[in-house]
This record gives sequence, C-alpha cells and structure tokens, in this order.
Amino acid sequence: MIPFDSFAMVDWSGGNDTGPRPRRDAIWLGLVRQGREEPPRYLRNRALAQEAIAELIETERCAGRRLMVGFDFPFGFPAGFAEGLTGRADPFAVWDWFEDRISDDPSANNRFDVAAMANGLFPGTGPFWFNGLRRDIAGLERRDTRAGHGQRERRAADAPGTFTCWQMGGAGAVGGQVLTGLPVLNRLRRRFAGDVAVWPFEDLARPVAFVEIWPGLINEVVKQAEAAGGVRDAHQVRLMARALARLPETDLAAMLAIDAPEEGWIMGLGHEEKFSRAAEGLKPPPLRDDCFALPGGVDWTPADQALALLRARLHRVVGQEPVDLASGLGRVLGAPVTARRANPPHPNTAVDGYGFAYASLGEGDQTLPLIAGRVAAGVPYAGDVPFGSAIRVLTGAALPSGVDTVILQEDVSVGRGEIAFRAGIKPGANTRRAGEDVGEGETILAPGRVLTPADLALCAAVGVARLEVCLRLRVAIISTGDELAEAGETPREGQIFDANRPMLSALVRDFGYEVVDLGKVADDRETLRRALDRGAAEADVILTSGGASAGDEDHVSALLNDAGAMAEWRIAIKPGRPLALGLWRETPVFGLPGNPVAALVCALIFARPAMASLSGAGWFEPQGFDVQANFEKRKKPGRREYLRARMREGRAEVFKSEGSGRISGLSWAEGLVELPEAGAEIKPGDSVRYIPFASFLRG
Ligand code: AMP
Ligand code: MG
Repeated sequence: MIPFDSFAMVDWSGGNDTGPRPRRDAIWLGLVRQGREEPPRYLRNRALAQEAIAELIETERCAGRRLMVGFDFPFGFPAGFAEGLTGRADPFAVWDWFEDRISDDPSANNRFDVAAMANGLFPGTGPFWFNGLRRDIAGLERRDTRAGHGQRERRAADAPGTFTCWQMGGAGAVGGQVLTGLPVLNRLRRRFAGDVAVWPFEDLARPVAFVEIWPGLINEVVKQAEAAGGVRDAHQVRLMARALARLPETDLAAMLAIDAPEEGWIMGLGHEEKFSRAAEGLKPPPLRDDCFALPGGVDWTPADQALALLRARLHRVVGQEPVDLASGLGRVLGAPVTARRANPPHPNTAVDGYGFAYASLGEGDQTLPLIAGRVAAGVPYAGDVPFGSAIRVLTGAALPSGVDTVILQEDVSVGRGEIAFRAGIKPGANTRRAGEDVGEGETILAPGRVLTPADLALCAAVGVARLEVCLRLRVAIISTGDELAEAGETPREGQIFDANRPMLSALVRDFGYEVVDLGKVADDRETLRRALDRGAAEADVILTSGGASAGDEDHVSALLNDAGAMAEWRIAIKPGRPLALGLWRETPVFGLPGNPVAALVCALIFARPAMASLSGAGWFEPQGFDVQANFEKRKKPGRREYLRARMREGRAEVFKSEGSGRISGLSWAEGLVELPEAGAEIKPGDSVRYIPFASFLRG
C-alpha cells in the first residue's frame, strides 16, 4: 500500500444549516496533516462542507501529499438495491441516481420526496420510510408500515440493532445522511476525476481515498474526551483522524483489504481495539528494524556494551491517557506537571504560639499586649493585628495582616491580657513563606517519572487533580518447550513444570506493567508463529523463554531470523546463554534462555531496563551497593558473573551452589552479587557489589 500523509474525518449531517455557533449534530471536519493535528472545523451546512473538502483535496494534491478522507455514512446499500433502482448492480449508478434528483440548499432539501420516488421503483411500499415533514408525501410512510418491497434490511457490514439506511428521519437515522451525502461525494469525485478513489469500490492507487468509517468504533475514547468538555462531534472527528494517522501501516492495509463491491464496508470493523489505542494518545513511531543489531566481528559482547546499545536504540512505544490522581500510583508520567497554585499558598505559622510584627519589638526581654481571638488553620483572621500587639496562632494558620513573626508557645509566659518572652527571636521566626516549597507555575514532575505516593501528595497540594500518564506497557509472556507441563497438571513421562511463566509474569507485574499471558507453546514453528502474532497484536513487548539458542528446537531464534529483524546476543555474562533479540511485526521480542536461573538474570539485567525505556520511564539502572563479602570465590576472567546472594549481618552471602538448575537458590536469594569481567580471588571481607532484587522494581 502506498502510505497516506494526511487523514481527515468528516462527521456528516442530513439536516439543514445549523447556524453560526459550533454545535453538535452538525458537520465537523478533523484533520491530521503529516502527523500534526489541526483543530476540528465546524461546517454549518453541506455547501460549505463540500467546499472545505474540495479545498483540502486541492491543497494536499498540490503539496504532493496522499490524503484519506473518512465519512460516517454508508457508501452503498444492501445488495440488490442498486439493481432495483438503476437496473445495474453498480454503487456509482446509485450515486448518480440520487445526485440527479436531490436538490439541496442550506435551508431546505427534498430528501424525503426523493426517497418516495425511489420507493416507487420497488414493489409493495418500497424500502424507505419515515416522512419527517409536516406535509404528507405519497409513497413515504410516517411509520414503519413497510411490506413487500423485497429489499434486505442491512448490509453485511451493518450490525443488528443499528439504524438502517431505509429510515429517513428521527434522531440518529442514517437514510437522510446517505441521500444528502452521496451527491456531494459524487460531485467531488467528478471534480477530481482520476485523483479520488472510493473505497472499497475502486483501486486505491490514487492521491485521494474516500473511506467509510464509523466513529462509534472509538466510542469509549470519545466519551473520555467529552467528559472534559467540548462538542462530541468535534472530539469524534479529531480523535478519528488521529487514530487513522497513528494506525500502523500494516494494520491500515489489512483493514483496507476488503471485498464488498456493491454494499461497501465500514473500515476498521472488528478492529475497534486497534482504533481506540491509536486514538488514545500520540503514539511514538515504532522501533527501527535494526535496533537490535550488534557490531559484527565480536564473539562475546561485553554486558556494558550490550546495555549501551539497548539504551541508545530503545524509546517509548506507548501512547498516553489522562487519569485521576487516585489511579496514578506506579504509572509513568507522560507530560510534565506544573503547579496550579503555590505551596504553601499563603504565609502561615509553622508552630502553635503567638504572632506579632518583628519591627514592633524593643531591646531585651519583651512584654506584648495580647489581643482577643485566635487564628487557626483554615480560619482566616478578618482584622489587622495592631502594631505592638500579639495574637494567638495555631499551626498552619495563615498569618494575619500585621504579623510576620511567631514565638513558640513553650517559650512564652502568658499573663492576664499579655505575653512575655526573652530577647533573641529572629525576624520571620517559625513562619513559612508563601511558595517557599513550590511556586505557582513551577514544574514539579517531569515526564518519565514513575509516580510514588509522595508524588501524588505533591500534585494534590498544588491543586493538580488529573495527570497525563503513559498507557501501561503490555508485556506478552510465552514459555516454549515440548517438555513443559503446567503446575497442577499431571505431567507426562519426561515432562517438567513450567517455572518461567509464573516467575516472569509476577516480575512484570511487580515492574508495574500489564501481563498478557500467552501460555506455553510446544516446540513447533507454526504454533509459535501464531503466539508471536498474537503477542504483536495484543502487547507492546514479548518475553519468551526457551528456544533462544541456535539448535534444532530453538524456534524462537529461527522465527525471528526468518523475519529478518533478529540478532543473536552472545553476551559475556554468567549465567546466560545467548539471548535472541528481535522485532516481530514491529514488536520487540526478548528471547530469554529457558533455564530459570538464566532467564531471571537476563530478565533483570537486560529486559528490565529495556522495558523501562519502552514504557516511557526512560533507561533504568538498578541501584547497587558496595558491601563486604562473606564468602570465598575464585573467578576466571572473561564474563561478568551474577551470584544468587543475600545480606546477613551487614555482609553478602551467596547460595551454596552455582548450579544453574537450582531454582531453590533463586528463591533463597534476596539479590545478586555482580562480579566484574576481570578475574578475581574473593575472600571474606573483600568489597563486592550487591544489588537487592528490590532495586529492580519501580524506578
Ligand atoms: P532451552 O533454552 O529451551 O534449551 O531450555 C534450557 C533448559 O531450560 C532446558 O533444560 C529446559 O527444559 C529448561 N526450561 C525451558 N523452559 C522452562 C520453563 N518454562 N520452566 C522451567 N524450565 C524450563
Ligand atoms: Mg527448549
């Protein structure tokens, strides 16, 4: 498919001119031009709409940009109607027929009369009904009393329960839109003859495509946007244009590959989820095909070099959505947060005590008359405090006018109507300045921040109630191997239980991501291919375990190799056999080793930071600590080693066996000791680097 550069969406209306003020149930036009969204345009009548679309086609054509325009009404009728109306099973014959008969101006049109004319060509009552006018029209009933017309109610694309194209009036009716819409499209088609292709009737290899789309496909996203205010139709065309512009090309091509030569089709039908996701936020471009390529000629890549490559080439792949503070915990911020108000909003007292003007104090010990009343948090003091007097204040109270300094109540003797205290208080003592914590308009949190409980407190304190966050990264998890049975099942001879999937699923949830569990897959290429396809459709990243080497049964690497975007990562770490890193339909795949110990280490050391990048949080480095060893080990030079370890009495101890099949050691451990590539002779008391498992959780 030749890609499109600009996407427009039109919300049509069969009614009369809707007046100068933008309103709903009118014609709206949304546009995304080369990835840039333009504000939706309100078009008060069809004549203006036709001109606006014509101008758009003109502009895009002159600029050499390919344009797709979506319309929200059917381009065809149920099969059989064209033949009955025109004698030919050709949708364009129907367009011509209506264009010849419809007269349309901003204040009136004859769509009901034309429907009656059409009815006259069919047996019985004819298929159209609902006369919305005061006067009676011969051949168009007010109510659905149709009989014997022989036409189908709906096209194959129309869902049961939706309005049919035969109903000419009433809220939501489609018939009026079709009858007034097709003549406009027909005129545009003629005016730009050869440049416009109408889908799915014509070959799309032209600069402009007219496509039927139903905005109901993204209903949930529209509802969310509408909750923040604005006209529904405006949101609809804006978000639909955005969805079209953001859909991966392969998805768009698949949705356009439809055969419906007479009735037409609703593009995207059955792909609601894809549309909604695309509409939800500005989705960043996909990763580059070569993002996992390693420099050639190297046998074993040092771990740091491998990590630096991932860091440089991976980026956020998820869109974003607004959420309430209450749902913000653990989410990745998608846009900066600025303070709507200063914190504190007004100068206030930090303690319980007495407030006065510092300038009113004399030399030495002090006695001040106390005025009646007190000031408490949330209860402002209406009057002025006279110069030379003091007033009772409680923690958090806004300083009344005339007060700039507070003395702690414990430092004061209170007499009848006066207070006394010793010399030495400083100006402004025990008070907080307005904005001393956060100034109004200050940026308090940056994109990529993984929100903590304290962050939510900070947002609330400065009046921020909603946050733009990244969509949760969806991580598909697949275990591979003929030998795998599910814990709880009765294993066959020679089977082992799948330990990796429960481990990796839990890990991914701990990271704050969404798990898409794709189960276990036998060592069979076609089954695995289907699982990867599902992963690419339903997730943002795929984690597999097993089958990642280069053996006969290593189907993960074989498939990724065939797809042409795979690299075998032979990284100089222990434990860890080769990782298979690649893209499957633009979705990154981390092919982890099957061995659970190696799978966990590779997931933590490589997949963890990579997923943080993909999630929008940015690259991630687990916090390690230099501690004393409580073990002995002789290490050969060459590979970086990770030992299962834990801290006891301030020292790191390691699991008694380094055997890579020992899952019990993983469970025993509370972290990893990381030994650098160089050879070493470690003795108790030597310094080693310990990384607690907790360091790998939320960044
Ligand atoms: P592979 O990488 O497929 O060659 O597997 C390496 C080793 O890990 C083999 O002994 C497998 O049986 C074992 N293994 C693979 N997948 C799992 C799993 N999901 N759970 C437990 N062990 C596994
Ligand atoms: Mg295997």
